[in-house]
Amino acid sequence: MALIEAFRQLLGDGAVLTREEDLAGLTEDWRGRYRAPALCAVLPSNTAQVAAVVRLCVEHGVPVLPQGGNTSLCGGATPADQGKRPVIIALTRMRRIRSIDPVNNTMEVDAGCVLATIQEAAAAAGRLYPVSLGAEGSCQIGGNIATNAGGTGVLRYGNTRDNVLGLEVVLPDGSIWDGLYALRKNNTGYDLKHLFIGSEGTLGIVTGAVLKLHPLPTAETVAWLAVDGPEQALEVLGLFQASCNSRLSAFELINSNQVRLVLEQVPGRRCPVARVDGWHVLVELSDTGDTQAIAGTMQAVLERALELGLISDGVVASSEAQRKAMWLVRHSVSEANKKAGVGLTSDTAVPVSAVPAFIAQATAAVHVIAPGVPIVVVGHMGDGNIHFIPFFSFAAWEAMANRAEVADQMRRAIDDAAAALRGTFSAEHGIGRTLTGEMARYKAPVELRLMRAVKQAFDPSGLFNPGRVLPVAREASSPS
Ligand code: FAD
Repeated sequence: MALIEAFRQLLGDGAVLTREEDLAGLTEDWRGRYRAPALCAVLPSNTAQVAAVVRLCVEHGVPVLPQGGNTSLCGGATPADQGKRPVIIALTRMRRIRSIDPVNNTMEVDAGCVLATIQEAAAAAGRLYPVSLGAEGSCQIGGNIATNAGGTGVLRYGNTRDNVLGLEVVLPDGSIWDGLYALRKNNTGYDLKHLFIGSEGTLGIVTGAVLKLHPLPTAETVAWLAVDGPEQALEVLGLFQASCNSRLSAFELINSNQVRLVLEQVPGRRCPVARVDGWHVLVELSDTGDTQAIAGTMQAVLERALELGLISDGVVASSEAQRKAMWLVRHSVSEANKKAGVGLTSDTAVPVSAVPAFIAQATAAVHVIAPGVPIVVVGHMGDGNIHFIPFFSFAAWEAMANRAEVADQMRRAIDDAAAALRGTFSAEHGIGRTLTGEMARYKAPVELRLMRAVKQAFDPSGLFNPGRVLPVAREASSPS
């Protein structure tokens, strides 16, 4: 086909993948829930090549699917099963750390850099790039930007949006926007970078970024706590907030169903406290001062929590190995859940003070639909983002005749519970294709109208990642 031949001329044979076996890892999502063919995948090495590829796609009227590490949890990065087959533009060859400026506390990178590589490069320069998530060994910074990824550091450092100062983007007409500013202040009209952050490949392809760096903590202390329930966890959070202020860098909530899945499914993981039942909190304090001071603060807050009967057990990591082991339990949840069965993952956020009410109300609503179904809860409690997951073994799921209907009902029940508390159905994973129906249901018509206008302005031919983020007209409905 002429287009593929043109790609070969432009990029060389090795950078154009057409065989099914070469495309396999790119056409199926991380959880194996979505799979559809692509026309081909191309692997450009620089921004000019990305722009040339886009111009060819436009010339041929072929959809464009930007892909990073393909770790999307909402079907954002793999081909749609309807319409024309897309060209996957994978940025795996664009992995250059372009520069680091430790005085300005910034770093300029290619969008294909893997998040962990960025963290390591920042640390080698004595700085911190604070976005951290379970997929950091494979997700790319371009994907993080496109999804406005959150993770475990949001409580202190904000989302990806808060850590990006500038962007370079290939636009849907094949032109290049150089917005690679390394400025903290730049009030020059509409801030375009914020439109691209969280746009999930529907407005352009991020090819480069200037990231904000932070002081590298020199002192860290992590504790794993056993609590009776989310209410107690919330009170413990209050104690830490009162004593630690910005030194509180993570506060994660996990229920016993989730801990058990990790212990059962991921070799080498151990529960840090003796009792698995009940609820668990992983809390981290970090600072640039000395370890003793921060350890003293941790100790004092935990003693107070014990006195108040808010925690029943707690272990403070006494070595770097123990600290890492605790985080490994937390970061293994997605892998464990994928191996164990079918989790109807949600990505809700509610005001932090409403987390216990949300969990109680969502549990009650889901149990009306499927009495007794196990609920897995894991979340970034410190910022109100809870993954509330009705969980089925593979056998139970396969045996259920009306599973699609049940899944829809459960999603609706959970998202309604969040909406009733003025929360959201997508906190950090994005919309992808999984949640376009929720967009139709929960977004005000005026918001959707403005979003469609933005899409039209950037991508009038609608070739960029079609079917993602914005609902098609027939999905429009209003909350009941
Ligand atoms: P992809 O999955 O490849 O793409 C995601 C979306 O971005 C797609 O719409 C794609 O078209 C678009 N895109 C990708 N690259 C570009 C680009 N350069 N320009 C324009 N658009 C682009 N997410 C969180 O927020 N917090 C978590 O704690 C978290 N934990 C996770 C744990 C595991 C084990 C897994 C598998 C996923 C987790 N995720 C989490 C979800 C996922 O890792 C993030 O959404 C991540 O930001 C996606 O990056 P990626 O490079 O894999 O992007």
